[in-house]
Amino acid sequence: VPGGGGGGGRADPPRPAPPRRDKIVKETEYYDILGVKPSASPEEIKKAYRKLALKYHPDKNPDEGEKFKLISQAYEVLSDPKKRDIYDQGREQAIKEGRSGGPSFSSPMEIFDMFFGGGGQMARERRGKNVVHQLSVTLEDLYNGVTKKLALQKNVICEKCEGIGGKKGSVEKCPLCKGRGMQIHIQQIGPDMVQQIQTVCVECKGQGERINPKDRCESCSGAKVICKKKIIEVHVEKGMKDGQKILFHAEGDQEPELEPDDVIIVLDQKDHSVFQRRGHDLIMKMKIHLSEALCGFKKTVKTLDDRILVITSKSGEIIKHGDLKCVQNEGMPIYEAPLEKGTLIIQFLVIFPEKHWLSPEKIPQLEALLPPRQKVKITDDMDQVELKEFNPSEQNWCQHGEAYEEDDDGPWARVQCQTA
Ligand SMILES: [Zn+2]
Ligand SMILES: [Zn+2]
Repeated sequence: VPGGGGGGGRADPPRPAPPRRDKIVKETEYYDILGVKPSASPEEIKKAYRKLALKYHPDKNPDEGEKFKLISQAYEVLSDPKKRDIYDQGREQAIKEGRSGGPSFSSPMEIFDMFFGGGGQMARERRGKNVVHQLSVTLEDLYNGVTKKLALQKNVICEKCEGIGGKKGSVEKCPLCKGRGMQIHIQQIGPDMVQQIQTVCVECKGQGERINPKDRCESCSGAKVICKKKIIEVHVEKGMKDGQKILFHAEGDQEPELEPDDVIIVLDQKDHSVFQRRGHDLIMKMKIHLSEALCGFKKTVKTLDDRILVITSKSGEIIKHGDLKCVQNEGMPIYEAPLEKGTLIIQFLVIFPEKHWLSPEKIPQLEALLPPRQKVKITDDMDQVELKEFNPSEQNWCQHGEAYEEDDDGPWARVQCQTA
């Protein structure tokens, strides 16, 4: 595990201090709820919320209301740098208490709508319930563009009764609530006191009118709408990105006298085994042997559209562990201008030979070729101590041993020890 060993080829400067967050975070519950690490970037937090909110939305998972609420609370705190800071200092209480008197958190639906926002639905008379679907895509799909078919269930106005729910003229004033839509119950709560309780009428569900049961439409049983399967074609264009929304105007559920809602498709990019995307750029790690790092190499890279690129090191140049090189115009295509592309960034990981590869007889040969070893003057007042193996085991060391974590924002900030 080179990462745990303390920096491999980068000999001189001491390891950078581990990121601040890792040290002081005590409360990790919100991070656990979203399934991210306490060092997660804002982007990662957004992505985690997006996935979970869609999965646990009451439309899809009606029994998980509590979970949906927790996800929303965790996101509300962690997506706000100020609140996240307070939370990271182990003061979940402080966040809750700081807002005592008012509601502690926004409603989960409000947060959901804000996040996925269809936009403008307040102005029109709508059901205010845009349908959000996640569409899983690969990085190849986003690079090359693809058309995907998606089957949706949606309510459409019943053709047989044209959305009336029964024969024409069969609509009558609700006999139970007399057209008010509400039922009023009077309750005696004291000698001279009565309380009025209003509830939505059970017969007409607040509509004030109903279809006479014997005239109900056979096709929709009076519901006015019928659930139908509809296939929509989603055109994923070159350069689109994870989380991007594609709007299908008025393709949502239909309801008499209301404009149908929009269907929002949210792209969800699967992780790629080689490339990580950062804006228009693609980032990859490439392992090279110590001999290649010192003597030069030729390597190939398979692109997302199946071409093979050959990269060659400059003659005589030494590549250090962690060095970055790039290939212009081999990154992601730019959305709506796909002839232009970002940059392919390659980070080199130097693989050192196995522990006892170098036999004592060979050392002088190698030494003759390398820069001279540093000599240290040993005096009597110094203590000779034994250097042993250190095993990071399952402790936090693993996080701090991450090979390249110079700062929180580095694209390769989250290299696990075991992958190095
Ligand atoms: Zn009624
Ligand atoms: Zn009908």
